[in-house]
Amino acid sequence: MSLEKTLRSLLGDDKVSTSYLERTAYSHDLAPIPRNIMWLFNNLPDIVVRLRTLEDVVAVLRLANKFKVAVTPRGSATWGYGGAVPTVGGILLDLRGLNKIVSFDEDQGLLTVQCGVVWKDIIDFLQKTSWDLPVYPSSAPSSTVGAFAATGGFGYGSLEHGSLVENIVSITIILPTGEKTVVGPDSGWVTLKQLLGSEGTLCVFGELTLKLAPKMPSTASFLAYFGRLGNAVEVANDLACRTRPFSLILRAFGFVRGQERKGLFGLEDAESGAIIYGYYTGMPGEVNESLNTFDEMTVDKGGVVRPREEADFEWNERFYPLRIKKLGPTVLTSDVVVPSNRLSEMIQYVWQLAHDASMDVEIETIWTSQDEVLFFPLFLSDERRTLKYLSHSAITKKLIDRAIAMGGRSYGYGLWNSFHFTASEPSRRKEFIKMKELLDPNGILNRGKTLTARTRLGLPLPKVLYAGFMETLWLLGRWF
Ligand SMILES: Cc1cc2nc3c(=O)[nH]c(=O)nc-3n(C[C@H](O)[C@H](O)[C@H](O)COP(=O)(O)OP(=O)(O)OC[C@H]3O[C@@H](n4cnc5c(N)ncnc54)[C@H](O)[C@@H]3O)c2cc1C
Repeated sequence: MSLEKTLRSLLGDDKVSTSYLERTAYSHDLAPIPRNIMWLFNNLPDIVVRLRTLEDVVAVLRLANKFKVAVTPRGSATWGYGGAVPTVGGILLDLRGLNKIVSFDEDQGLLTVQCGVVWKDIIDFLQKTSWDLPVYPSSAPSSTVGAFAATGGFGYGSLEHGSLVENIVSITIILPTGEKTVVGPDSGWVTLKQLLGSEGTLCVFGELTLKLAPKMPSTASFLAYFGRLGNAVEVANDLACRTRPFSLILRAFGFVRGQERKGLFGLEDAESGAIIYGYYTGMPGEVNESLNTFDEMTVDKGGVVRPREEADFEWNERFYPLRIKKLGPTVLTSDVVVPSNRLSEMIQYVWQLAHDASMDVEIETIWTSQDEVLFFPLFLSDERRTLKYLSHSAITKKLIDRAIAMGGRSYGYGLWNSFHFTASEPSRRKEFIKMKELLDPNGILNRGKTLTARTRLGLPLPKVLYAGFMETLWLLGRWF
């Protein structure tokens, strides 16, 4: 029996599709990739399966492993690194149907959810309880829990509660061979840390049990404008150490194309200014003290503390960092982790890059600890101008190279950033290779990603070729 027929008999016709139209919808993620790059890969899945139970996942992986067919797990495809896009066709696992809240232990603050649950649904679910999410991504309205575990796990709340891995009690995973197993702190053979951030290459996360954070009696948002970037960064770094907000964000702009865009986001001097905003949770005295410290530090450094209602507005808008897209049409981005004491330098570098390429840029920065920030620049480009867009996309390489040189790293690898894994995290990559050989002997899961970018011919794309190509594109960009 053919693979398709076997899948249909195992799962039922309604869960399996080979329609060209549907497969095309699964051949890309959030980031538009020009055709002249994408031809290197076979990004069109042969079969799409829309799964609803862990047993479905087990059945598909067992079969794919037997036939040695590539499998690509996919949530909502908001991670723009090509992780959810096939490179050699194969089976596409749409996991959004695993969207149930499995159990909630209100006494202990433990929540078990399936991997396809969207973060915003959990936030809504917890609203009338005495518990909150400790950490969630700024893409919470659409991104899935399993994928956040697969990609990095840093977001809002990380400054106070760390990454997702520090807030997981156990996970039910399905290995590429189709075995289902539970991994917790005492599993022994593998740690949660080894699996989280594995970008869908080592296992499929089926269910996750999260340790929730108790709702605190007092909360407050804060917001300040600064005319000088350096002062904003200094205040934010001090705040992160002295007051430890639940979340702390800095936003800066580099508008090079249209002067009229300055001020659009409330800044008079958008070229060199920045805003910082965030959210405190705690006991009433504690939160008031933190707000007083924030006010004093801001005024001391020439900033302007904005009224609480404006701060509330900014915090409530935190899920829409892509607002700049309305000036679009296309946003180019790549996240990097940067030491917080090098942040000013990094922002100035990005401004210079944007200036050289004549691109407007908005920079979002989330503190994930006292020492590190998640740095998320949004460059405006235009995918309809293919050559220009290609040259603009070289900016992501320059960004990651600079982050690594500063002691930071790429926040993830997927397909497009896999070239940077060795320079970014050499020892983690070595361990990753061992885990891949152990858990996925037939190399079926997310084939040709993270460790290497493998083309449709099965050959890895050499790093020197990629680096040379990107640098040439960047230089040629001035003439396009
Ligand atoms: C506006 C915006 C804001 C963002 N903010 C953040 C942020 O604050 N923090 C952050 O970390 N990221 C952020 N991201 C990136 C992205 O949204 C997150 O990585 C998110 O967790 C991806 O979820 P998804 O369901 O869209 O995953 P997808 O894009 O579908 O998949 C991402 C990767 O995970 C794998 N995968 C998916 N599901 C599973 C599973 N169940 N088991 C194993 N592997 C799986 C896929 O194969 C792929 O490699 C942001 C993106 C945008 C557009």
